[in-house]
Amino acid sequence: MKTKILEEFKTRFGTEPSLYASAGRINLIGEHTDYNGGFVFPGAIDKVIMSAIAPNDTEKVRVFSIDINEYAEFGLNEDDVPPQSWARYIFGVCREILKRGGTVKGFDAVFAGNVPLGAGLSSSAALESCFAFALNDMFNANSIDKFELAKIGQSTEHNYCGVNCGIMDQFASVMGRKGKLMRLDCRSMEFEYFPFASDDYELILVDSRVKHELADSPYNKRRASCERVAKRLGLETLRDATIDMLDSIRTDITAEDYFRAKFVIEEKDRVLAVCDALNKGDFETVGAKMYETHKGLSKDYEVSCEELDFLNDVARECGVTGSRIMGGGFGGCTINLVKKDLRDKFIETAKEKFKEKYGHEPKVYPVVISDGAHKVEE
Ligand code: ADP
Ligand code: MG
Repeated sequence: MKTKILEEFKTRFGTEPSLYASAGRINLIGEHTDYNGGFVFPGAIDKVIMSAIAPNDTEKVRVFSIDINEYAEFGLNEDDVPPQSWARYIFGVCREILKRGGTVKGFDAVFAGNVPLGAGLSSSAALESCFAFALNDMFNANSIDKFELAKIGQSTEHNYCGVNCGIMDQFASVMGRKGKLMRLDCRSMEFEYFPFASDDYELILVDSRVKHELADSPYNKRRASCERVAKRLGLETLRDATIDMLDSIRTDITAEDYFRAKFVIEEKDRVLAVCDALNKGDFETVGAKMYETHKGLSKDYEVSCEELDFLNDVARECGVTGSRIMGGGFGGCTINLVKKDLRDKFIETAKEKFKEKYGHEPKVYPVVISDGAHKVEE
């Protein structure tokens, strides 16, 4: 990828660029917790967007996407927004840096990536973080704080791409470290690194390649349930709720609200338990918690679907240590914690059984927890 990018850059622009990269991400545990003031537990992965970049002494950005095979050119003013949707991620990052009083001048860039698009690994955050990091290094002497770079990516999604996302994806892409997961407190924005490196276990994503679009907005409905229960408990969010507190109002709320809140409260405790277990190198407990999360997402939060429950069952039958839905639900991937010696058998079985039942093979992505945004040494 590096060679291809550098060669393309040389042919198109002929100047000497610097190389930067940023990563896609996984979230080991902590689902639907962000809007409840809880914890998420992501890490950057060994799938990246990489770009060669050089200032061009003009007021224009000229950028070529190798994967999409398209060229875009745009200025740096608010009304220079490019028509290509992929270029808006880059334009947005430029604009958000400028809005914050930072410096961005014209530059040339050629980029490519191997983060699968739209599979739940956040290729868009990798793209934003790659350029945010690069422009901070190239034009701002790295004076913009790294957490702010993540916020620049998030604001780009909000203001230029029409995606109202939280901070987790960009945070993980920018701040990720090799062999470490990060517990992010979505209320205080404090975060802490935990070890995730083992010679015995691997993380394998299985992408069902289905996405069920539901008529009503299940996300908003669940959010509303959580807010209702928090309010009934006199709390701002479910962050400070306990199961005892929830049980004390059980007869005053609907069964649906009860089970939604139960999942969120239990999920917060599971993230904390997984962090403790990782500090002890206890991967069996980590895996058990992942299965509990899947069950909660499926039965209490009701955001699973037949295909994901099927993949979860296949994992359990194969003896996989942990498995759960990753992301909001209704399709997408499962994330699986797999003993190395079970890896090949699991991948083969999952592909075979899924295809037999649903007529197409799932995509499989083994991932390694890796560094986030960085300058690539040539
Ligand atoms: P994801 O869940 O992977 O973030 P999104 O729909 O949020 O999915 O973002 C995918 C979009 O990001 C693509 O449609 C494209 O505009 C941009 N993108 C991601 N990866 C690349 C790439 N390698 N080359 C060009 N654009 C990319
Ligand atoms: Mg995205």
